[in-house]
Amino acid sequence: MERTLSIIKPDGVRQGVIGEVIRRFESAGIRIAAMKMLQLTQAEAEGFYAVHRERPFFESLTRFMSSGPIVVMVLEGDGVIARNREIMGATNPKDAAPGTIRKDFASSVEQNVVHGSDAPETARTEIAYFFSEMEIC
Ligand code: ATP
Ligand code: MG
Repeated sequence: MERTLSIIKPDGVRQGVIGEVIRRFESAGIRIAAMKMLQLTQAEAEGFYAVHRERPFFESLTRFMSSGPIVVMVLEGDGVIARNREIMGATNPKDAAPGTIRKDFASSVEQNVVHGSDAPETARTEIAYFFSEMEIC
């Protein structure tokens, strides 16, 4: 069964949409296989987003991602990587389709409420960044 890493970012937790985001996943028939809340240090956020380290928004993004608690989840289901990205909507909320999480709750291209892995290989590394196999049910 396919797995992906989902993060409710600090802006999502601050807005109080943890339950709403989880409801959208469960309503779509996606199973939550692991979940926890934590706050990243900036160094830990830099490690997670290492692929973006040359991008101009890297410092701002990692500061934002370490600015408050986040909820990290492992989602499981057929085609869940693509389905999660559909439920999230486009990175920039201005481009996101109606009814997506980012259209409904994101305030900017940076503060866009959720993260989702973009491919099977990244899903594996991103899940391993936060969870041991024992923590995934
Ligand atoms: P994510 O990886 O978080 O699921 P994504 O795959 O849609 O989102 P990426 O291109 O991987 O988007 O960018 C990672 C994150 O970096 C985005 O979710 C957003 O928070 C931030 N980001 C992307 N582009 C910009 C930008 N132009 N300015 C500021 N922040 C950005
Ligand atoms: Mg991405």
